[in-house]
Amino acid sequence: IAQELRALIKFRPWSRNQSTIANGKHEQSSFLESVDVYFDKAAAVSTTAPDILALIKACNCVVKLQFPLKRSTGEVEVIQAYRAQHSHHRLPTKGGIRMAPTVDAEETMALAALMTFKCAVVDVPFGGAKGGIRIDPRKYSMQEKEAIIRRYTSELAKRNFIGPAVDVLAPDYGTGSQEMAWIRDTYQQLHISELNASACVTGKPLEEGGIRGRKEATGLGLFFCLQEFFNDEELLRGVKLSQGIKGKTFVVQGFGNVGGNAINIRETEGILEMACDVLIPAALESQIHMENAPRIKAKIVAEAANGPVTAAAEAILERNGIVILPDLLMNAGGVSVSYFEWLQNLNHVSYGRMSRRLEEHNKMDLINALERQLEKSLSSDLRMKAFRGNTELDFVWSGLEETMLAAWNNVKNTAEKRGCNLRTAAYLIAIERIAAFYQVHGIFP
Ligand code: GLU
Repeated sequence: IAQELRALIKFRPWSRNQSTIANGKHEQSSFLESVDVYFDKAAAVSTTAPDILALIKACNCVVKLQFPLKRSTGEVEVIQAYRAQHSHHRLPTKGGIRMAPTVDAEETMALAALMTFKCAVVDVPFGGAKGGIRIDPRKYSMQEKEAIIRRYTSELAKRNFIGPAVDVLAPDYGTGSQEMAWIRDTYQQLHISELNASACVTGKPLEEGGIRGRKEATGLGLFFCLQEFFNDEELLRGVKLSQGIKGKTFVVQGFGNVGGNAINIRETEGILEMACDVLIPAALESQIHMENAPRIKAKIVAEAANGPVTAAAEAILERNGIVILPDLLMNAGGVSVSYFEWLQNLNHVSYGRMSRRLEEHNKMDLINALERQLEKSLSSDLRMKAFRGNTELDFVWSGLEETMLAAWNNVKNTAEKRGCNLRTAAYLIAIERIAAFYQVHGIFP
């Protein structure tokens, strides 16, 4: 399989010198190569011209930063960090920033490429980017982390690699709203007269211009898609499962920001192999690889993480009848709500304030319509209890639902029409949307 896959990789301009956790141990091909294989599979069935495919695939630019950190001991340490902007076909570019010891240029480029395709799948008007700081965040104090994040932001700012119209950051593995607040403040200090400075980063705390529901958005987006999957008779027939989400068993690897910082992922590998209906890898890339793929017992793998299944593992899972619900769709809820946050920041108003006014004046039955829609789509009491009556959340939630359902239907229909799996369908949608851009706006100069 590995040989077959290597032959599939047509374009590999970057050599791998660092291994990711799983790939290094079990596979010759890297995370970036896996993303390239997925892209190439879709490219092979796309009608897009080869030169435009090469343009869409290539990473536009990647910056490597090395800057000093004065540790609390007084020692100076050189910190390595990256920001990759994969595609400028739409601006700003958009993507998270992670802190992990595995970060390197290739990983950052692979993640940036996934952001480009993911944004295209959910039709969010951004190019893709990703940043990374190569540290184990557990080994640094809050003050040290603040210094790292602020210096990283200023290094990006110096190079015009951050800004509401240029490149908008967000949380990722090992970072959260606190880091986003530091990024926003640093950027604001350096651009004191910039009216829209707070839109340089999303996933901020509410006090800093964040939006309600952003933290839950990725998981909810995944839930909306899973719900659709469990209502689809044809897809269910393939995995021999009954209709409806109720009563199904789930295994989740990864515990979000907190667990991501607190738990060494290599202690959790075994849980991937537990018997269940749905396995949700929600941690890092390449967790399901050639070596453990034959032992995966789940019927469905719903990719919450970016790139959790290697291309070689995908072939094994599919041979065993396991359906993969791909990352480009399943975890796109995060960036979708980031888009709403960015819009709110640019508008200097919250959806909550606007919708309360509509309700007060009784100009339309919008809120009621939204609530009916919410009730229809998710019967969970918890959801209604937690969110009913909060108009900003209702707006965010319904926008997220609309986005995810439209993308789900598009991916599913494309897979049917083109006779491919859901991942290839998602890549195809992305490729064709981006190609349509180049078609219209041409190539500069
Ligand atoms: N880091 C998240 C992702 O991989 C969110 C990106 C964003 O909101 O810009 O999708």
